[in-house]
Amino acid sequence: MTIELDEDQAAEYNADPDAYAARFVVLAKFEYLLWVDLNGAPLCGARTTGGELCRNAGAGGTQFSVSEWKARRRKAFCATHAQMMRSHER
Ligand SMILES: [Zn+2]
Repeated sequence: MTIELDEDQAAEYNADPDAYAARFVVLAKFEYLLWVDLNGAPLCGARTTGGELCRNAGAGGTQFSVSEWKARRRKAFCATHAQMMRSHER
């Protein structure tokens, strides 16, 4: 993919490439970093014992496009939480 930048865009890109890329794929910067960090795997839908949203990748695959990733987020569980759910059912 070739992206042509005008002078203002180039300056913006040079100032903060991550923020620029995040805008390009229409995500907040932290979401973009998460998406890269998780290799496109949707986030786990469970909460930790401390009550925070789990930061692990959920099951179901990796390398989803940004829109698929957003649609699938918090809908599957990571290996740890999937196991906890199963043991609760027993
Ligand atoms: Zn989890």
